[in-house]
Amino acid sequence: MKKLALAFVVTFLLLLAVVLVRTARFGDAQGEVPAAAAYTAPAGAAERLAEAIRIPTISHEDSARFDAAAFAAFHQLLRTRFPRVHAGLRRETVAGHSVLYTWPGSDPRLPPLLLMGHMDVVPVEAGTEARWTQPPFAGTVRDGWVWGRGAVDDKSSVMGTMEAVEMLLAQGFAPRRTVMLAYGHDEEVGGHGARQTAALLRGRGVRPWMVVDEGGVIGQGLMPGVDRPTALIGVAEKGFVSVELTATAEGGHSSMPPRHGSIGRLSAAIHRLEASPMPARLDGATLKLFGRVGPEMPFAQRAVFANLWLTRPLVIRTLAGAPSSNAVIRTTTAPTIFQAGTKENVLPSRARAVVNFRILPGDSVAGVVAHVRRVVDDTAVHVRAMEGFSSEPSPVSRTDGEPYRLLERSIRQSAPDAVVAPYLVVGGTDARHYHALTGHVYRFLPVRMTSEDLDRIHGTDERISIRDYEAAIRFYRQLLLNAAGG
Ligand SMILES: [Zn+2]
Repeated sequence: MKKLALAFVVTFLLLLAVVLVRTARFGDAQGEVPAAAAYTAPAGAAERLAEAIRIPTISHEDSARFDAAAFAAFHQLLRTRFPRVHAGLRRETVAGHSVLYTWPGSDPRLPPLLLMGHMDVVPVEAGTEARWTQPPFAGTVRDGWVWGRGAVDDKSSVMGTMEAVEMLLAQGFAPRRTVMLAYGHDEEVGGHGARQTAALLRGRGVRPWMVVDEGGVIGQGLMPGVDRPTALIGVAEKGFVSVELTATAEGGHSSMPPRHGSIGRLSAAIHRLEASPMPARLDGATLKLFGRVGPEMPFAQRAVFANLWLTRPLVIRTLAGAPSSNAVIRTTTAPTIFQAGTKENVLPSRARAVVNFRILPGDSVAGVVAHVRRVVDDTAVHVRAMEGFSSEPSPVSRTDGEPYRLLERSIRQSAPDAVVAPYLVVGGTDARHYHALTGHVYRFLPVRMTSEDLDRIHGTDERISIRDYEAAIRFYRQLLLNAAGG
């Protein structure tokens, strides 16, 4: 008995030693940051961003409402406000309203740097206009802020990259590496412009060295336990598919109902789907995220993430407990449409629902549909993947190569207080179309945001501080200097 107790104590102490050593070694991998290039924000940049906001380049779900004149006006604004860009770069129109600029580098052996953005914005939800502090398309500059729809998503990227290139041209900078700027016109409704731009480049045999699109931000208080701001680089994005479920049953008068009508059958199917989500996994971009921010956490949390060999099941259970963290460890199940019945005393013979799935890299559209069929398991409920509403999850971009390291360095030079970490983007971006061209596709917009700020994107009172916008231009300029400089 004594021997057994002793063995137990020894095993426990060994385990504790391993946990402590691993925790101690779970250190900061980010070295010194080299000094950033001197920078003075270009005069009038905030006013030019406000001008861009005043042009309502709105993407509507109903394509008949597409406003070509607004996009033509936006193109014209770029021409008049960035004359050096338009004199020095080759400009092409793609898919009618998207644009691609090419700034040839002096060394044709270097593959190009491609910076992306999108010119379109989401509409303002009907009935919420009066809640805006400043009208959404007035482009108001007041009290240190630029207000309006698109101030962040994503006119700050488009105008910010233009400002950076215009500045560099004024200073006589000539890139060694070719630089491309690609701005889509319909990111919010499918990104056909970006898809065609990627196809065009692929046809020309262009293999970008690195692609940088919008996506991650510099989060403030977004990661529990991490005090420093976290600059999140999206290295992968989830796929999506919408699955339609249709239940059929005898119709008729409601006075003599069957045991299960179409509504009951469909409700039961939806309930089963919610109760049996696809399995959770801690891998890929999310695992990389915790590997990077874990060392920034207080001791107990640091020990947990340094010892996933032991704590993984506990971590997965904890992450699954909140919608925002659950979304980065599994394919999510979201019933979004439920339709049945027209009259209170008539049994509907048909009930229809749509369930939207956001697919974790590693899972697939076909895998989701097979999962739905298996879980629903009812011959009276027909399951169908909706065409046009699906996209496979992206591969995970590399974080060990020179492009990622250079991007990380550029961010730290512009925001020295931030921890830079890779992460998984749960929404969709135009960047997904570029994974076939390069293994280095990243999503990052250098704007500081709290969770309250994030709600303003696609919501009410979207705005950017002038300071943040000027810092964004600084970042793009630093990135260009690092990637394409002498
Ligand atoms: Zn966007």
